[in-house]
Amino acid sequence: MQIEQLSAWTDGSDQPFIIAGPCSAETEEQLFKTAKELKENGINVIRAGVWKPRTRPGTFEGIGEDALKWIQKIKKELDVKFAIEVANAQHVELALKYGIDILWIGARSTVNPFTVQEIADALKGHDVPVLVKNPLNPDLALWIGAMERLNQAGITKLGAIHRGFSTSKKTKFRNLPQWQMALELKRKYPEMPMICDPSHIAGKRDMIQELSQKAMDLVFDGLIIESHIDPENAWSDAAQQVTPTHLKEILEALVLRHTKSDNPEFQTHLAELREKIDELDREIFETLADRMKIVDEIGEYKKDNKVTVFQINRYKEMMKARGEWAEELHLNDEFMENVFSLIHDAAIRRQTLIMNETEEKA
Ligand code: PEP
Ligand code: MN
Repeated sequence: MQIEQLSAWTDGSDQPFIIAGPCSAETEEQLFKTAKELKENGINVIRAGVWKPRTRPGTFEGIGEDALKWIQKIKKELDVKFAIEVANAQHVELALKYGIDILWIGARSTVNPFTVQEIADALKGHDVPVLVKNPLNPDLALWIGAMERLNQAGITKLGAIHRGFSTSKKTKFRNLPQWQMALELKRKYPEMPMICDPSHIAGKRDMIQELSQKAMDLVFDGLIIESHIDPENAWSDAAQQVTPTHLKEILEALVLRHTKSDNPEFQTHLAELREKIDELDREIFETLADRMKIVDEIGEYKKDNKVTVFQINRYKEMMKARGEWAEELHLNDEFMENVFSLIHDAAIRRQTLIMNETEEKA
C-alpha cells in the first residue's frame, strides 16, 4: 500500500492529532456551541455523526443532509475542519459536495467488503483523507482489506482508527481493546497513521483518560474523542461523551512520549541494555537448541523401546513444576504456560518425525 504520512494532511505538528466532537450532529445550536468551545480549547478538527448506524430502528438515526449544511456554515464561521462517517456511495457524494475534510468508515461498514468497495468506488479521483475503523470482530485481514480497497481506488491519505472489538462477555469495556491487533497492524504497515477512539472502547467517560494515556504509551499518533456541550442529554452515546472543558483536562493531563529521546545518554544507555538483551536471547536460543538435541535422543530411545511419544503424566508433572518455577521467579504464569506449551509442542513434533523416519527405514 502507498500511504502518506499523517503530516501530509494535518498541520504537521509533533503533538498528537486530535479529532473531537459529538457522537451525532443533533441541532445546529448543539453542533455550533460544541465546535466553538472545542476550537477555543485548541481543537481544530471536529467530528460529528451525520448518519448514525443504530442497533435497532426507531431510534435517532442522524440528521442527514441538513447537518451537512450546518457543518458547511460552522466550518466557515469557526475556521475548523470536519470529519464524518460515510457508509455508502451517496454519503460520500454528499460529504464531498459539502466540503467535508476527513471521512471515516465505521466499524459496521468495515466488516462488509461490498460496502467498503462501494465507498472506494465513489471516492475514485478524490484526494480526501479516509480513516478506517477496525471491524466489529477482531479480524486484522478484514481491516487491512478495507484499507487496500481504498488504496487501490487511489486514496493514499489513509489512517486506521482503533475502536475496540465487540464482545458478548461482560467486561468493563464497551468494546474490548485487544491492543495487540493495533500493534500488529503497525508492525505490518509502520507508515500507517494510527488513531485511537477511547470513547467507543470505554463506553463511559470515566475511563477515557486512562485509555487515552495507554494509547499514547503505545504507538498511536492521535485520538478521536466524543465531546458534547451537554453529554447527559446527548441523543446517542450519552454515557461516553465529555464536555469540551473535560476534554481539555484529559488532553492536558496526558504524558506524551516520543519514539526517540533528545538526551544523548538515553541512546547510549539504551544501546547497552539492548546488548544485554541480545546476549540473553542468544543464550535462550542456545539452550533451546541443546534441549532439542536431548529431545531427539529421547525420541530415538522411545522408538527403540516401542514407547509412545506423548506421555501424559510426564506432561502434567512438567507443567506443575514449571508453574512453580514461574511463581518463584515472579514470571507471569499464563505467559510461561504459553511459552512452555510452544516448546513442548515442538518437541512432540520432532519426536513424531523421528518415529516416522525410523519406520520408513525399517
Ligand atoms: C461513531 O464513531 O460514532 C461510531 C458509530 O463508531 P463505530 O463505528 O466505531 O461504532
Ligand atoms: Mn458514538
